[in-house]
Amino acid sequence: VVTGETQGRRAVVVGSGPSGFYCADQLLGEGFLVDVIDALPTPFGLVRAGVAPDHPKIKAVTRVYDRIAGKQGFRFFGGVELGADVTREELLDRYHVVVYAFGAADDNKLGVPGEDRPGSYGAARFVAWYNGHPRGVDDEFVLSAERAVVVGNGNVAIDIARMLVLDPDELAVTDIADHALEALAASTVREVVVLGRRGPAQAAFSNPELRELAHLKRADVVIDAAELELDTDSERWLDEDADPSARINVEVMREYAASEPAEGRLRVVLKFLASPVEIVGDGDDGPVTGVRIARNRIETSADGRLSAVPTEHEEIIECGLVLRSIGYRGRPTAGLPFDERRGLIRNAAGRVVDEAGLHHTGEYVVGWIKRGPSGVIGTNRKDATDTVECIREDVAAGRVHQPSLGAEDPGPWLAGRGQAVGWDGWQAIDAHERARGEPQGRPRVKVVRLDDLHAHARVSG
Ligand code: NAP
Repeated sequence: VVTGETQGRRAVVVGSGPSGFYCADQLLGEGFLVDVIDALPTPFGLVRAGVAPDHPKIKAVTRVYDRIAGKQGFRFFGGVELGADVTREELLDRYHVVVYAFGAADDNKLGVPGEDRPGSYGAARFVAWYNGHPRGVDDEFVLSAERAVVVGNGNVAIDIARMLVLDPDELAVTDIADHALEALAASTVREVVVLGRRGPAQAAFSNPELRELAHLKRADVVIDAAELELDTDSERWLDEDADPSARINVEVMREYAASEPAEGRLRVVLKFLASPVEIVGDGDDGPVTGVRIARNRIETSADGRLSAVPTEHEEIIECGLVLRSIGYRGRPTAGLPFDERRGLIRNAAGRVVDEAGLHHTGEYVVGWIKRGPSGVIGTNRKDATDTVECIREDVAAGRVHQPSLGAEDPGPWLAGRGQAVGWDGWQAIDAHERARGEPQGRPRVKVVRLDDLHAHARVSG
């Protein structure tokens, strides 16, 4: 509903991933003029830089965002980074509404000795690298080991395990970054151990992602049947309280456990009730040679949550590569209240609030920087609806931020920040990448260096 109050007001959305696009769309629907800025010259956030290269269907959602970008009142300014090229105050001087949608770019840490040894990395870095995010271009990963350990039982852990065992031929038809394609083709990793700190019933894998592992061309999934024997608390929880997807996960795992892995094939080994207590290696900072794990048991905490509690039993899994995939966290931004524990901007249902719960009038959040790193792409649509509902309520109630330079079009100012790239610039990059991919039967060959991205954006004129 376009109301008199919102008509023609200016909003800026910081971040052009799914949450930013859904929010921009709904703000347009409310009559706002919407500028979307992004630190990168390319849009789409995790759809471009997070979704695994072998999941092209998931990436097709960008068609929806293309349509949004084509709407009257929408503008894109890529290559403009909050904090580096524009400040929060400068945005508040020019926009009635500022929505932060920049997600959660950093890895959680395990907090165990040896975590920063060569050969031990966070998932965010590895994912950025294989997806050709400019910040990951020059990263290198030890892929010369026989065994890798992936810590965590979420979908990112599955993505990473899959990327490590996919056949180079399977990868070669994707939009994986060329540097990663080359490095993974030369990888000697033959076994990937995926570690869950809790049991199989508590794994956060989605059913399709877990099932997909059955179709790997050159790898089998291996689960020791003993790993699937549930403790009584988990058994009861699974029967009485759990989401159906947890029950299905356990069934799928039982099928994996019942099938014999073939000789000579690569393996993805799922192990449960195991927490790293040390990343082992030579000396204080020598390369990884293994992970010392404590075996856990499940205990029901006072709040009813089934938690992992370490037992006395420890063992070492020898490996040369450790990837921790235990969730992401956002980065604090100057001037914005930050919830250190959860790694997100402090907010109440999307309104940025200080420690006392007082709303920073005009400032809002959507997506992972609002609710933490959970949910699938579509979750962000409802998430944006909720925030835009707050904005609508605030405008209707007169709780409106008045930007001091609000009468001026911020477009020319933004276009002069950083090396701003408009939607046409992105379209030029896109066309170039697709054209490079076509003869190779790939959806695109990504341009991965910032300078090159900017050069291709300029070609559009
Ligand atoms: P996630 O689903 O939250 O999984 C995080 C995992 O890390 C959990 O298994 C968690 O175990 C474990 N963990 C946390 N702290 C740990 C610690 N200190 N030691 C050991 N394990 C620890 O997060 P994610 O995999 O990063 O994915 C983020 C979101 O993106 C999820 O909503 C996911 O579904 C989504 N995603 C979807 C797809 C897809 O649909 N294809 C692909 C990728 C990502 P506990 O449960 O015990 O805390």
